[in-house]
Amino acid sequence: MNGDDRISVMKPWLGEEEIAAVTAVIQSGWVAQGPQVARFEQLFAEAMQAEHAIATSNCTTALHLALVVAGIQPGDEVIVPSFSFIATANAPSYVGALAVFADVDAQTGNVTAETIAPLLTERTRAVIIVDQGGMPVHLTSIRALCDPLGITVIEDAACGAGSRYLGRPVGASAELVAWSFHPRKLLTTGEGGMLTTSRADWAARARRLREHAMSSSAAERHLALVAPEEHYDEIGFNYRMTDLQAAVGIVQLDKLPTLVRRRRELAATYTDALQHVPGLRAVVDPDWGTSNFQSMWVEICEEYPLDREALLQHLAEAGISARRGIMSAHLQRAYASGTSIRVPLPVSERLTRGTLILPLYHQLDETQQATVIDALLAPVVAVGHG
Ligand SMILES: *Cc1c(COP(=O)(O)O)cnc(C)c1O
Repeated sequence: MNGDDRISVMKPWLGEEEIAAVTAVIQSGWVAQGPQVARFEQLFAEAMQAEHAIATSNCTTALHLALVVAGIQPGDEVIVPSFSFIATANAPSYVGALAVFADVDAQTGNVTAETIAPLLTERTRAVIIVDQGGMPVHLTSIRALCDPLGITVIEDAACGAGSRYLGRPVGASAELVAWSFHPRKLLTTGEGGMLTTSRADWAARARRLREHAMSSSAAERHLALVAPEEHYDEIGFNYRMTDLQAAVGIVQLDKLPTLVRRRRELAATYTDALQHVPGLRAVVDPDWGTSNFQSMWVEICEEYPLDREALLQHLAEAGISARRGIMSAHLQRAYASGTSIRVPLPVSERLTRGTLILPLYHQLDETQQATVIDALLAPVVAVGHG
């Protein structure tokens, strides 16, 4: 089976409009951070109901900026889920803080006030919560726990664009939110990220820090005939997005409602079909919101005839590229000892070892999805349960 007819786990949805947008930026002669980034920030803030948006090179750098503006210092403790892409766990170390791993709820794959509460100490200064795979995290109960203690809640919504929480876009009622535009997410700019925040002072500082902590941006200085003399009041970073990327982002943002509608349709088809497959549990919307189904994961339970690795192999033989479920950082050598605080994380380990992510992307058609569903059903039929 060659790469063209195999069913991938994920594909970005890019086309002529993105090509035209990039071409126009190249023709304009301004390709680095400039007017397209400013426009993308404004449109993204509107779409996510955020006060301020600062585009970054990726979500990992947005998480770093979030921790800096929140004032997290060496020796501080930051509670994070281990059950997440490793960037979530790595972020605290960029400011010299210690990651403290919280377990997750088995239904959503997200941390909860209940899993965070026992880990709070007087050194806890921040909590990073994740909308894992697009599943909205229960922000309100976590802020009710953390706000009175002066603990900053940072939302890692890398996967969350298009998901909704209590009737609004995820992150809309958070103080600091980091977003990703990596091709594994719904919206892509190749690489790219965004920091949104409700606080003007944090937005202004993040905007400067993103650009070497320069007092005026490169775009502002370029537009002036005599550029103002710049000054640097602290040590910054180069975490800029380019106008080439932002132009793609503007087109992609426009497609978001269509992307979410299609993904939720495909997710519903999977959910209905899997009800007839004993031993496979599909992730579903929680009571408090709706997922964009960035990741459609299933847990392989005991009644299913194959274990996770055997099922991956079986799907590969049918030309289907599924993926192992979300990782747990504490199981990686980078977090073997001394680099984090660990308690038993039974649910994280169970989900990391026993889940897989099904193919789900905008262009996946009914025939391809039926192929996946048939392949999931076949082992059950073979042992006579079907
Ligand atoms: C993808 C992802 C990131 C990293 O995003 P980048 O834009 O690649 O830096 C961080 N956190 C989570 C939960 C992710 O899924």
